[in-house]
Amino acid sequence: MNTQYESVIGLEVHVQLKTKSKIFCACSAAFGCEANENTCPVCLGLPGSLPVLNEKVLELAIKVGLALNCRISERIKFDRKNYFYPDLPKAYQISQYDMPVASKGFLVVEIKGDGGVLTEKRIGITRAHLEEDAGKLLHEGIKDGSWVDYNRAGVPLLEIVSEPDLRTPEEAFQYLVSLKAILQYLEVSDCNMEEGSLRCDANVSIRSIGETKLGTKVEIKNMNSFRAVQKALAYEVKRQTKAVESGEKIIQETRLWNESKSETFSMRSKEQAHDYRYFPEPDLVPFSVASEKIETIKKSLPELPKARWDRFKTRYGLSDYDAYVLTSDKILGDYFEACIQEKADPKLTSNWIQSELLALLNAGKIAIGDSPVKAKDLAGLIRLIGNNTVSGKIAKEILPMMFETRKSAETIVKEKGLVQVTDLKVLEEAADRVIRANAKSVSDLKAGKKQALGFLVGQVMKETKGKANPKLINEILTQKLPIQ
Ligand code: ADP
Ligand code: MG
Ligand code: ZN
Repeated sequence: MNTQYESVIGLEVHVQLKTKSKIFCACSAAFGCEANENTCPVCLGLPGSLPVLNEKVLELAIKVGLALNCRISERIKFDRKNYFYPDLPKAYQISQYDMPVASKGFLVVEIKGDGGVLTEKRIGITRAHLEEDAGKLLHEGIKDGSWVDYNRAGVPLLEIVSEPDLRTPEEAFQYLVSLKAILQYLEVSDCNMEEGSLRCDANVSIRSIGETKLGTKVEIKNMNSFRAVQKALAYEVKRQTKAVESGEKIIQETRLWNESKSETFSMRSKEQAHDYRYFPEPDLVPFSVASEKIETIKKSLPELPKARWDRFKTRYGLSDYDAYVLTSDKILGDYFEACIQEKADPKLTSNWIQSELLALLNAGKIAIGDSPVKAKDLAGLIRLIGNNTVSGKIAKEILPMMFETRKSAETIVKEKGLVQVTDLKVLEEAADRVIRANAKSVSDLKAGKKQALGFLVGQVMKETKGKANPKLINEILTQKLPIQ
């Protein structure tokens, strides 16, 4: 980006709250059912039906509000947001306009700098309000019109709106990671972008550095991953910068992200924007939440990512960065702690998860929760390294085999005869063979060239097919070949 400009970004995140039933009726909120299986007169908007608020929805929303340091509104009201579209059976969506559940909070986001140094940035949360989801239209492969599935109509959503405090697409990505972590820890949502339980619209404008007024914003929709949000924002910042530099004016509009083309295109401009004609929902009267209830929910909040991060540092002696990575995803943190429960060394476990296990999972596009190597089995492998049964080098070969076969490390070690060679006699013989075959390196080492030692250790490792303990070989060689 041109250094003359800075980008200004605000995100609107919709999270589906994890409840058994919908927000205003008793229909199931489950994903993946037969089309229109989960419907009733209320969520189909049939005349005469009346909405009743699901108390669990309110409780989950308050949980999120508290975790995001928000003020919980004393009075809560629902409003009708009117627009006409076939996915909306009532032709209005029940939402919250001027009295949302929560407002004026903040989220502390970790921004990754050079060398993995993390700096904190506080991003304001404007508000979090409840609303019902709409149905889903199906157009593809249908000749005579479109089909509609109302299973999703009435599913509870919480819309979390950030202040325009984010300054780069990377910061926006990090904000989403941090927000998702909190939602996962609270267990209020599945946070699955593919299934639509987490959706994000991104607003972005640019302005000259030093300018304090906001520029004209563009809203981008249709991103299906956090990386896509980041890419769409980067594209949009470039597009806006180019436009401004060539003297064009940015128009306020909604644009859609096209993943395969990696570009955004205009969907509608401000002139075509909706006037939603919000008004209070007459079928749901405004109400207050007792402060005792808010206190009870506050007390029930689980350990959140930041607290767990601190705990991982103090209890397990992990570095700031390692503890952050392991706690930025709840399931990853749970996996780590399950290994520790199985008596694996914390630092070794942290290294093995981050370097070896995650590499295998990423290569196979597998989530940590679905890892073919369970925590118990990774802990088993790490214990074998810890008690010198296998070398670290061999362990790196065992893990992919565990991944493939789902067998335990012990079984593989037995089957393949991979037990580390610690028998001094065997090692000394191997060292002697290597010394005889590498006169040049031997004399180099004796002359004080320490690099030669590494080479010779490597040769002994080769002799023993990687099963020797490098520390032992090191000691043996140093003894046999003292520097003269
Ligand atoms: P709208 O009424 O169009 O929905 P809002 O004021 O509710 O706009 O803001 C929606 C989102 O857009 C918020 O996350 C906010 O931070 C962000 N936003 C508002 N103005 C700007 C701007 N000029 N540039 C970037 N983001 C903005
Ligand atoms: Mg908005
Ligand atoms: Zn229903």
